[in-house]
Amino acid sequence: MNLHEYQTKQRFASYGIPVANGKVATTPEEARDIAASLGVPVVVKAQVLTGGRGKAGGVKLAANPEEAFEKASKILGMSIKDHIVHRVLIDPASTISKEIYLGITNDRTVGKPLLMASSEGGVEIEQVAAENPDAIKREWINPSLGLRDYQARNIAEGINLPREHWGTFVKIAKALYRCYIESDATLAEINPLIITEENVLFALDGKMSIDDNALYRRKDLAEMRDISAEPVTEVQAREAGLTYVKLNGQIGCMVNGAGLAMTTMDMIKLYGGEDVGPANFLDIGGGAQAERVAAALRIILSDPDVKAVLFNIFGGITRGDEVARGIIQALNEVPTTIPMVIRLAGTNSEEGRAIIDGANLPNIRSASTLTDGAKKAIEAARGA
Ligand code: GDP
Ligand code: MN
Repeated sequence: MNLHEYQTKQRFASYGIPVANGKVATTPEEARDIAASLGVPVVVKAQVLTGGRGKAGGVKLAANPEEAFEKASKILGMSIKDHIVHRVLIDPASTISKEIYLGITNDRTVGKPLLMASSEGGVEIEQVAAENPDAIKREWINPSLGLRDYQARNIAEGINLPREHWGTFVKIAKALYRCYIESDATLAEINPLIITEENVLFALDGKMSIDDNALYRRKDLAEMRDISAEPVTEVQAREAGLTYVKLNGQIGCMVNGAGLAMTTMDMIKLYGGEDVGPANFLDIGGGAQAERVAAALRIILSDPDVKAVLFNIFGGITRGDEVARGIIQALNEVPTTIPMVIRLAGTNSEEGRAIIDGANLPNIRSASTLTDGAKKAIEAARGA
């Protein structure tokens, strides 16, 4: 789950990270009133769960309350990477003499949190990593020791931060780490962390991602979830008890088991080359009753990018004939002409295949192996 900038900054503030004391508006009138009460030039910032708002025109300076009204009218309702803006944050505007990147994430290959900083702030870290990887300084954090002062100082030195700011920088980095750990976050990021023209270090932007599996014990964070800002399909999937992540490819994947879903995506990538890839990650879980399959199918087919669907079902405790009946029932509930390839293996897979063949649906082909299924689905997607 991702937090909005304003939510992240509230959280940052409670850990002592310096942020602006702005307020959220949902109408241009409110934006004007907030600007008037702040009594200074402000910045009007779109609150959407995606980055690059600045580039998209979702961050605008306003010199007075009237201008805040105008900028808010333009930004509210605008679409940034398919995210509609329902709220704007009105912050007192800052002067900027330097923008820095500071973030913490999990480094899964090492199994430790990773503190990263770059002197090229304001730019997305992925872009810095691609174009100028040496500009990123890294320190891996031993979770039983926490972030040590010397590590934060190493980073400060590595990004050529003037020495007078090292003390504050260490405090901010340590506060960010505490915030990250105590929020069960998978990402806590300040981009940019700025040095103002008054020579003060300050978090101008904030982003946090929280591990969904920890929300049961982080009730305060769980309550921050803004369903209206999340992709509709992901909300529907969560309600149906499915794990679903939308991706950019053309082949909808319907798979039981997370590991098998990863393998299915790998196979599509392997044979799909440059032009065809998986449209989603989806784990329908064990059991795979007809309603769950139908819900998953509805979600997959609501994605206009999907040109073919690959079912990859391994029957263990879940029996192949049961799944096959679920699929047929789901196809009755969600009629479609999109080509589908079904690979059934494991317990009662022959019975399952017989059920599917017996249904005589013109857009369905069966596959004997995953390789065969991936190739057939790719062929179908290319033909569409
Ligand atoms: P993002 O584009 O979604 O990451 O949004 P940010 O909050 O990081 O803002 C993008 C850029 O807008 C920043 O890198 C700054 O260059 C600029 N910006 C944001 N707030 C202010 C401000 O208060 N004053 C000035 N001068 N620029 C700002
Ligand atoms: Mn930013």
